[in-house]
Amino acid sequence: MVLGPIHMAYILAALLFILALAGLSKQETAKLGCLSGMVGMTIALLATFAQVDTATGFILIIIAMAIGAGIGIYVARKVAMTQMPEMIACLHSFVGLAAVLVGYNSFLELGGSAAPETITIPVNATADEIAALLEAAGAAAAGAASTMSVGELNTHLVEIFLGVFIGAVTFTGSIVAYGKLNGTYKLRIFKSAPLMIPGGHWLNLGALVVSLFLMIWFMASDTPSVAPLVIMTLIAFVFGVHLVAAIGGADMPVVISMLNSYSGWAAAASGFMLSNDLLIVTGALVGSSGAILSYIMCRAMNRSFISVIAGGFGNEGAAASTDEEMGEYRELKCPEVAELLKNSSSVIIAPGYGMAVAQAQNAVAQLTEKLQARGIQVRFAIHPVAGRLPGHMNVLLAEAKVPYDIVFEMDEINDDFENTDTVLVIGANDTVNPAALENPNSPIAGMPVLEVWKARNVVVFKRSMNTGYAGVQNPLFFKENTAMCFGDAKKSVEEIVANL
Ligand code: NDP
Repeated sequence: MVLGPIHMAYILAALLFILALAGLSKQETAKLGCLSGMVGMTIALLATFAQVDTATGFILIIIAMAIGAGIGIYVARKVAMTQMPEMIACLHSFVGLAAVLVGYNSFLELGGSAAPETITIPVNATADEIAALLEAAGAAAAGAASTMSVGELNTHLVEIFLGVFIGAVTFTGSIVAYGKLNGTYKLRIFKSAPLMIPGGHWLNLGALVVSLFLMIWFMASDTPSVAPLVIMTLIAFVFGVHLVAAIGGADMPVVISMLNSYSGWAAAASGFMLSNDLLIVTGALVGSSGAILSYIMCRAMNRSFISVIAGGFGNEGAAASTDEEMGEYRELKCPEVAELLKNSSSVIIAPGYGMAVAQAQNAVAQLTEKLQARGIQVRFAIHPVAGRLPGHMNVLLAEAKVPYDIVFEMDEINDDFENTDTVLVIGANDTVNPAALENPNSPIAGMPVLEVWKARNVVVFKRSMNTGYAGVQNPLFFKENTAMCFGDAKKSVEEIVANL
């Protein structure tokens, strides 16, 4: 088989996407990974352009790309680092919606050409020519569906049905994830606490069973009807909302990577509907890497993969403890923290979402240099779900040029806290909450956390006694060896640097 230039371009783009994923798995190679992805996408776009055979098609694509790129550049320039997770959820919702629209378009194309066509028969046409013209017109009038074999038509209908289903779940699920991550919307489904409807899991199961019957109806009739497709789309929209609304704050990282995976499968389904090999490969890469990431995150957080993807199945017993009376807490001012650090020989910094909000990473990097200049050992402890994005803290520390070799994953450093003089918890809360290990009724029960309280001294930088993302009060703040340093993390760290 001889491969044409388009196929060669597709293979090259797919290889570059695989290299991109491999590159992104390590900080040192992440930039190269991004570059591979960008080159791959450019090749994919050029190969797509090369296939457009009408001037109108070309102009329409350029206009659509110009509008999309314009909005994309504007939003990307405006969005703050802390809003990235919401933006990603929003982008996932677009992929889902695109799959729904492609699905409906494919369906309409099946029957859309069924309208009778007017044919022109030249006056001097022979009998054979007239027969051929009538035959061609007849095939077109019967619609694209009738030009397919029964097997091909059935496969195409399954592609449409599944593509629309996955796309619709991804669309509304991502919108709910967007609301939950944004945290400012009043609607109950957008709250961080899980929305547990009585019998919710039976509703989920019912939705799946009804959708299965609708698919049988969709495929059984000779001329496929739009009714089962529309009913299933509505069910899938509600299913997506319910699935994600039922998931509690601390499990949101898994939901984000899961929706990432769904968006990949939705894209792959679109690829099948459009018979586009590259879209199938790319969608499958995103879908499978998202699924692997979800699995890794579930393991890191000691959660059941099935439980999370089934919309928090088995979490009914968990209850948040926001206003529990936990006792007294101690407070230290920045100059006192500086003194404490001067008297320490080992320091571990545990950053969290608050460091991203305060944009304190550069101040933290300066603090690290100051402490190292005094001969103090400084290391960083990164929880797998610290912040609001997988790798959020690593990105911030890399931006501030903190050397990679002093940044450790939770498993690598968790045993070292007991031999550490001082731990600085900078804007972290849920990821350092001992309730996860001590309180089986806590919504974060079972989640491994950074065991910072084992150090001789712990200083927590935050603005108030408010809870973290999961809405759970933190007993760490009330321990004898813990002191609170209230204020914006960036300002506090800068003041400490000035005092060192
Ligand atoms: P948390 O969200 O638990 O807590 C962040 C803390 O930062 C808050 O308690 C807040 O306290 C403090 N803070 C906010 N702004 C500032 C500021 N300007 N200066 C100082 N402190 C500030 O953070 P963690 O990183 O510990 O945990 C992440 C949570 O997010 C987990 O529950 C995780 O499951 C969830 N999540 C993670 C995702 C991921 O992929 N990593 C995705 C989605 C959710 P105060 O208001 O008092 O200042």
